[in-house]
Amino acid sequence: MKEFDGLAAIVTGGASGIGLATARLLAERGARVAVLDLNVDGIGPEFLAVQCDVTDDAGVTAAVAAVERGLGRLDVVINNAGIGAQGAVEANDLDEWRRVLDVNLLGVVRVARASLPALRASPAASMVITSSMAATVGLPQRALYSATKGALLSLTLAMAADHVHEGIRVNCVAPGTADTPWVQRLLARAADPVAELAALGARQPIGRLVSAPEVAEAICYLAGPRSASTTGTVLPVDGGAQSL
Ligand code: NAD
Repeated sequence: MKEFDGLAAIVTGGASGIGLATARLLAERGARVAVLDLNVDGIGPEFLAVQCDVTDDAGVTAAVAAVERGLGRLDVVINNAGIGAQGAVEANDLDEWRRVLDVNLLGVVRVARASLPALRASPAASMVITSSMAATVGLPQRALYSATKGALLSLTLAMAADHVHEGIRVNCVAPGTADTPWVQRLLARAADPVAELAALGARQPIGRLVSAPEVAEAICYLAGPRSASTTGTVLPVDGGAQSL
C-alpha cells in the first residue's frame, strides 16, 4: 500500500521545476495527479493535464471542476504556481506589482477558494503552498517577490486556523534558491552561465543549490498522512539560509 493510494491531487505550476518534481513524486507514491499550468503540451499521459491560468477567476473554477470530474475526488492541493520579480520597491511600477500579486498571491487564493468545497469531502484533505526563503530572509532586490511570498506565510497560518476543524490541513514550504528551469533561465542571461551557477551555489550555506526533488520531498511529506498532526507550519528547504 502506497502513501497516496486512492487519493487525487492537483499541482499548480506542475509543468516545470518544483511542481513537476512534486507531481512525479505524488504519482510514484500512488496519487492520481492533475497538472494545472499555463501550458500543458508536454505533460505525459500519467497525469491529467488541465490548461489553467491562475489569474483567471472563471478558468480556475473550471479547471478544479474538470479535475473533480476527471479524478472523481480531490484530496491534496499543491498551490505552487508562481513567477519572479527583481528589484527594490521602486523598481517595478504599480501595474507590475498588481501583475505579480495576481499570480503569486491571488492565484493561490483562487485555487484555494475553488478547491475547499471538494477538500471538505475528503478524509485526507491537505493543501501545501509554495512560499520562499524570500518571505523570511531580507534579500536585496526582491521587494515585490518577497512581499508576495511573505503574504503566503500569513495566508497559510490563517487558513490552517480556519479549516482545522473541517479536517483540512494547510502548510507551506519555503525553498531556497533551487535548480529549476526558472533559475536556469536567469543564469542563461549571464556571460558564463556555468561559472554563474557555481558562484550562486557557493553563496548558499550548503555550498550548492537546493534541488527540485528535495523540495518535492518536503511538499509530499506535508501533503500526506505522515504529517497528519501538522498544520499551519512552514518547512524551509533552503540549504541553511535561515542561519545566515
Ligand atoms: P518554474 O518556472 O520552473 O515553474 C513554475 C511553473 O508555474 C511553470 O510551469 C509556469 O508555467 C507556471 N505558471 C506561472 N504562471 C502561471 C499562471 N499564471 N498560471 C498557471 N501556471 C503558471 O519555477 P520553479 O522554480 O519550479 O518555481 C515554483 C514555485 O517555487 C514558485 O511559486 C516559486 O516562487 C517558488 N520558489 C522557487 C524558488 C527557486 O529558486 N526556483 C525558490 C523559492 C520559491
